[in-house]
Amino acid sequence: MPKLLIIEDSPLMQKVIKHLATSELSCKFDLASTMAEAQEFIAKSDYFLALADLHLPDAPNGEVIDVVLEAGITTIVLTASLDDRKRKAMLDRGVLDYIYKENRDSYISAIKLANQLLHNKKTIVLLADDSHTLRTHICKQLQRLLFNVIEVENGIEALVALKQHPQIELLITDFNMPKMNGIQLIRKIRQTRSRDTFPIIGLSSSSDPTLSAQFIKYGANDFLITPFIHEEFQWRILRTMEQISLFKKITDTANKDYLTKLYNRRYFYTQSRKLFKKALADDSELVIALIDIDFFKKINDSYGHDSGDAVLVELAAILQNIFQGFIVARFGGEEFIVIIDNVAIELCAKYFEQFREKIEENCFIIPDGELSVTVSLGVAWHKPGSLQCFINKADVALYQAKDSGRNRIVYDAQ
Ligand code: GH3
Ligand code: MG
Ligand code: MG
Repeated sequence: MPKLLIIEDSPLMQKVIKHLATSELSCKFDLASTMAEAQEFIAKSDYFLALADLHLPDAPNGEVIDVVLEAGITTIVLTASLDDRKRKAMLDRGVLDYIYKENRDSYISAIKLANQLLHNKKTIVLLADDSHTLRTHICKQLQRLLFNVIEVENGIEALVALKQHPQIELLITDFNMPKMNGIQLIRKIRQTRSRDTFPIIGLSSSSDPTLSAQFIKYGANDFLITPFIHEEFQWRILRTMEQISLFKKITDTANKDYLTKLYNRRYFYTQSRKLFKKALADDSELVIALIDIDFFKKINDSYGHDSGDAVLVELAAILQNIFQGFIVARFGGEEFIVIIDNVAIELCAKYFEQFREKIEENCFIIPDGELSVTVSLGVAWHKPGSLQCFINKADVALYQAKDSGRNRIVYDAQ
């Protein structure tokens, strides 16, 4: 797990940083008060990033920067004052960025940037440009931001790469490329992937001012006019990525259940209506399972609501894990629903049994210890007249599972 190294000598600032980093940072961190201490840390651990104060008791003139850069650690400088000449000198030395140390907000920005860079380490960016020189230059800039980069020379190659690597999270594309230009590429991608979920940044040269407008019009999230300075490049990319993750947060808030992080009932209906329509059109089968925790009220009554919540969270994670790739939702209080398409009922039955057994054997961790629970499942799998009728059949089966003793699976009689 990568760590962050924070180098700061002021006790007051250290207190602020400790508090912020503990609550906001997505990784572990070490805090050094002097250059000597920073050196000791670097000798012992690996750091993906350093936030470095320029003025330390044993290094009053930014000497610590050389220490961290020489260790190959990406560095962000925190400074109370930086004139233009010093700023340029810092960036020329290879410092990624600088943040003015004015108040608590400065550290909030620094921690945010650290989290973003941590995310970049796991992010693949696709770079499409036919010019080898420009591609190499941009690739270097992206690697400084810790991104993983895949390079291609034209639009056709970009489409192939997107198919081969569905994890790609960002595309940066030039306009002028052989075989398929940047705008044609964007139009093709936008047929299936929206601006809100897959960001694209167009590169347009300053000699054609109409290109940037075209890029935006045809679906790019932003554009960069070449040549550009690193700071602009960095912030346009990071802002675009931030917008996408904010959008994801908003949609997750709307579609997911706050407690279990599973999809909520509303999202379940929207998605399963689509699946249901598709199954009718393809004449394929769907399987729906309603899952209800047995005697859940007793857990609340005996161990408290917090314990009930903990059981819901752990059970939801097990359910999600076993039914990965399918729609799993919290249907109501302690009731969950799974809809499975294109899998034979015999195989689904094995998964349902595996889930039931797993729950029966699992020790659920609650604030005061551990407890066991069981679940009942009602399953329906044929093609009735409506989605609601389908769910009702699963519900009747669930009722029978409860009525016949709980901790079991009942299949709809067809
Ligand atoms: P059965 O085996 O028949 O399903 O019995 P049960 O006790 O599980 O079912 P019942 O419907 O009587 O009670 C469900 C309980 O679930 C009642 C409700 O307070 C509790 N519940 C619903 N949502 C939540 C929640 O978000 N957190 C907690 N802790 N409890 C919840
Ligand atoms: Mg129940
Ligand atoms: Mg219930």
